[in-house]
Amino acid sequence: MTTPLLRLRGVTAGYAGIPAVRDLDLDLAEGEVLALLGPNGAGKTTTLLAAAGVIRPMRGTVEAFGRPLHRRLERNARAGLILVPDTRGVFHGLTVRENLALARRGGRDRTHEELFPALAGLMSRRCGLLSGGEQQMLALAKALAGRPRVLLVDEMSMGLAPVAVQALLPAVRSLADRFGVGVVLVEQHIDLALSIADRAIVLHHGRATLAGPAADLRADRHAVAEAYFGTA
Ligand code: ATP
Repeated sequence: MTTPLLRLRGVTAGYAGIPAVRDLDLDLAEGEVLALLGPNGAGKTTTLLAAAGVIRPMRGTVEAFGRPLHRRLERNARAGLILVPDTRGVFHGLTVRENLALARRGGRDRTHEELFPALAGLMSRRCGLLSGGEQQMLALAKALAGRPRVLLVDEMSMGLAPVAVQALLPAVRSLADRFGVGVVLVEQHIDLALSIADRAIVLHHGRATLAGPAADLRADRHAVAEAYFGTA
């Protein structure tokens, strides 16, 4: 078996000593999209923060690329572990071109031009004037400029119409398919997430209540609803 890009074992993490996620196991393989589902407050963002090394687990282990996370976030990011926060992390006063230039790590990376051709016509526009969907495209394009091997994507769809999300998700899928990037995708739109994911984990009150291939979850919406609402 090849080493997973990301491996969480028995992770309990939270804030001020109070767990928001409990005893979570998670594996992410190369080229895999893992949807992390669950209602508000279920612990999805906390899971991403622990996986990215932003918060240290109270218990359990996090490994990326076969090694424990480095204490310094920058080192993990340089190894290719990239968090795309739900605040989108774009600078509103700067243009699209300037935002991309800031994110680039040497060389010229053209991947985003292939995946988000719509950005090409917006290079000189200030980001504050972009639509929500365009800002999210830019946030992903910025993450790509960091040459990710693992992308931890937090609620891309926040504030976006489902149609805008639908336009973004294929780009996530093709990152995994074409470049072998592993993606953990936190998403409120369950059907959209399951339509592009390989596997999914449903969280409820910080615990994994269901995990399995996305196709299985798509086929058993009843089980998903029970896991989601904690009635399983
Ligand atoms: P949402 O979909 O609303 O973003 P989520 O599944 O991402 O929810 P988390 O943001 O991980 O959930 O939150 C899990 C729990 O941890 C919640 O009870 C939340 O109130 C709590 N929490 C989140 N951030 C903090 C923080 N900085 N300090 C204290 N508690 C927090």
